[in-house]
Amino acid sequence: MQIPLVNLTEQYVGIKTEIQTAINKVLDSTAFIGGPFVAEFETKFAEYCGVEHCIGVGNGTDAITIVLRAMGIGPGDEVITAANSFVATSEAITNAGATVVFADCCPDTSLIDTDSLNSLLSRKTKAIIPVHLYGRPANMDAVNEIAKANGLFVIEDAAQAHGAELNDKRVGSLGDAACFSFYPGKNLGAYGDAGAVVTKDKQLAERVRMFANHGRTSKYDHEFEGFNSRLDGMQAAILSVKLKHSERWTERRREIALIYDAELSDLEIALTPPEPKARHVYHLYVVRVKNREEVQSRLKKLGISTGVHYPIALPNLTAYRHLGHKTSDFPVATELSKEVLSLPMCPELTDEMVIRVCQCLRKVLNG
Ligand SMILES: *Cc1c(COP(=O)(O)O)cnc(C)c1O
Repeated sequence: MQIPLVNLTEQYVGIKTEIQTAINKVLDSTAFIGGPFVAEFETKFAEYCGVEHCIGVGNGTDAITIVLRAMGIGPGDEVITAANSFVATSEAITNAGATVVFADCCPDTSLIDTDSLNSLLSRKTKAIIPVHLYGRPANMDAVNEIAKANGLFVIEDAAQAHGAELNDKRVGSLGDAACFSFYPGKNLGAYGDAGAVVTKDKQLAERVRMFANHGRTSKYDHEFEGFNSRLDGMQAAILSVKLKHSERWTERRREIALIYDAELSDLEIALTPPEPKARHVYHLYVVRVKNREEVQSRLKKLGISTGVHYPIALPNLTAYRHLGHKTSDFPVATELSKEVLSLPMCPELTDEMVIRVCQCLRKVLNG
C-alpha cells in the first residue's frame, strides 16, 4: 500500500463536475480579473473568518507584504515573527522594506514563544506576525496583550490554518489583519497561486485593495505605487466550490489526528495536544523523532511518504546569514528543525491507511 503525504488527485475527482461547471461559467462570462466570481468568494471567505472584509490577492506571500505596506510599515521598521515557519513569512517582511526580528518557539507546541517577545521589542518595532503553524492557533491572547501595551499591529499568518479557532473565534479575526494562502496543498487550496487578506478594519481593507492593484483610485489614477497582485476569477470560482466542502474536509483532518494521537500516544513522539479552547485544523500532523533521516527512508521503503516542515529554522538559513545569528540564539527552533517529521495528512486518507502509518512507524522506531 502506497500512502502519500497529500492526495490532490483524489480530492479533485470527488468534486470534478462542480469544478468544471464553475470554470465554464468564468470562461463564458470572461470575468478573468476582478468581477463577480472574485467578489462572491471574498464575501464568503470574510464570513467564514468572521470578519467584514476580504481582499483576494495573488498569493499568501504577497498578502503579508501588502498588508505591511498598507499599514505604513517599511524601511527603518522592525517586525517580529516566529523562527520556525516557511520562509515566505520573513521574506514578505523584507520585501516590504522592513527588518525581520525572529522570536524562538515553544518546544511543546512549536508556536511563537510569547514569553520572549518583550525582550525583542525596540523603538523600531511596528508589528508582530504570529504564525498558526501546522494549523494550530498561536497564543493570540499573549500576542495581543503585548501588542496593545506597545502600540503594535498584529498580523496573523494563517496560511496553514483556514477554519482554525481559538476561544470560539475564527483564525483571521484574532488580530488587526490576517493573511491566507490558497496554494494547492493548503487546507483550502486553489488550482494555482492565490491568497487573501482579511480584516475587520474598513480603512485598512481599502488600502490593501489599492496596494494590491497598483495603488489605483480609478482606472487611470494612482495615489501611490503598489503591486500587481490580484486573485483571478478562475481561482476564485474554484475556491468558492471548495469552500463549501471545507468544513467536512477539516473535520476529517481532525478525525485522522485523533487516530494518530491514540495510536502513537505510548511512543511519546507527538507534540502536546492543543488546549481545549483551540480548534487545530491539522494542515500537518507533526511528530518529533531522533535520527529523522533514517526513520524517513525506512518509512519510504514501506511505501509511506513523509515531509519535514522545516529542516532549517529561518534564522539559520543562508538567506539570513547577514543577520549574524548563531544557532544557539534560537535553541528551540534549531532543535525542532532537526527532529520534526510530518506524517501523511489529508482528508482523503482512510482509517486503514492512518493505522498502517502508525504500525510502520512503531516498527521503525522500535528497530
Ligand atoms: C504557504 C505559506 C505562506 C505563503 O503562501 P504562498 O501562497 O505560497 O505565497 C506563508 N506562510 C506560511 C506559514 C505558509 O505555509
